[in-house]
Amino acid sequence: MARPTPLSGYPELLPAARAVEREVIASLSRTFELHGFANIETRVAEPLDRLAKGGEIDKEIYVLRRLQADDTADDTGLGLHFDLTVPFARYVLEHAGHLEFPFRRYQIQPCWRGERPQEGRYRQFTQADIDVVGKDELPFHHDVEVMRVMVEALGALPLPRLSFQVNNRKLIQGFYRGLGIPDVTAAIRQIDKLDKLPEDAVVELLAEHAGASAEQAQRCLELATIRVADHSLVDRVQALGVTDDLLSRGLAELASVLDGCRDVVGERVSVEANLRIARGLDYYTGTVVEIYMEGYERLKAVGGGGRYDALAEDGRTTYPGVGVSFGLSRTLVPLISEGVLSGSRAVPSAVLVALADEQSRPASERVADALRARGIAAEVAASPQKYGRQIRYAERRGIPFVWFPASDPGVGDQVKDIRSGDQLDADAATWDPPADDLRPGIVVTHATDETSSTDERQRQ
Ligand code: AMP
Repeated sequence: MARPTPLSGYPELLPAARAVEREVIASLSRTFELHGFANIETRVAEPLDRLAKGGEIDKEIYVLRRLQADDTADDTGLGLHFDLTVPFARYVLEHAGHLEFPFRRYQIQPCWRGERPQEGRYRQFTQADIDVVGKDELPFHHDVEVMRVMVEALGALPLPRLSFQVNNRKLIQGFYRGLGIPDVTAAIRQIDKLDKLPEDAVVELLAEHAGASAEQAQRCLELATIRVADHSLVDRVQALGVTDDLLSRGLAELASVLDGCRDVVGERVSVEANLRIARGLDYYTGTVVEIYMEGYERLKAVGGGGRYDALAEDGRTTYPGVGVSFGLSRTLVPLISEGVLSGSRAVPSAVLVALADEQSRPASERVADALRARGIAAEVAASPQKYGRQIRYAERRGIPFVWFPASDPGVGDQVKDIRSGDQLDADAATWDPPADDLRPGIVVTHATDETSSTDERQRQ
């Protein structure tokens, strides 16, 4: 076989980088589960008509085709899911009879989109989603809940500072309606272009597509430029002088989300109202959020989500939901390739058990087994090379300890920390590595102007 050609848009990680991703997934899962979210995994294939529904954006769906299938085969008309929300909605409908509502679930799986690959934008990428879904109704406090859980989950990760930018669809719709804009939906679509076009271009589009007067368009811009993290939000919006029921409800909801997150935000995550966020024309009906990473604004949103009052419905029952999706690949792949995040080692082993000669292999395996029985990952050296070479073998893999089984009866085993060079007597039945060395960890390297310094090591 010829040497394989790399395929762009399908990132693959080397073992140490994969250890970073695994630690992140473990940490997210732990936080989600602490809040009672159950894990599910949905199949990769969904019927095309279900994938094509909703949203105006063409998600560049990959179609699944069996080489020898003809048009009548029962596995035609399937595609790969492009997000985790659509398969989740189908899953809820299909299994509703066996689920308890409100149903909290988290899901961490790959998605596929046939987009033009670039940094942070891939054809296969992993998403981490949490959602709460109700039957017929879902109280508003769940909007606050999912936001808090995601803030807590992401705040536990060693990432650059994240900012949750929250808005509310009711607020925008009510404001436009109260202003008397003829086509509210079109206005939302134009305001959504503010991050790509200058303000006066958006004013023109508002006039052209939404029938807004110059005065109305100006007010829309004033609303869209409000960005605050505290209660002054309510005053700022009210000062614009528009009154409408829906606007009041949306404003109260948005203020509650900010209030509700106040005690979970911190050094690593902030939550603020940004009245420009609309999340396209997707199915959102209330709270909407986009997550940005400081210094990485070029990646656009690293996560997003919101409230959807009719996520799924089967004619008799409606299942409203609220959720947030975090782009694991969008975030981690660039940070790993820049060297900001790396794995502390490429293998799980905390200990390499040295091998004096081939006849001693069973004795070395016994030591490794004694360590493994106590939850310490260990491997036996591949070959009985000189001890210096066995130590270098461990060093190259980032294994922190080398174990020397007793060579003669009566002489005890010894273990060497190859970073410090310290070598001590040890017994495999009782010795423990420092907790930080038990599993591969995430090493964070902050780039400074000319040098970079490793100043944080996070263990899960
Ligand atoms: P969307 O469903 O388009 O709102 O995207 C939700 C989140 O998924 C985004 O905020 C990104 O984090 C992530 N995402 C979307 N498309 C891609 C892609 N092609 N590659 C990597 N991540 C993506």
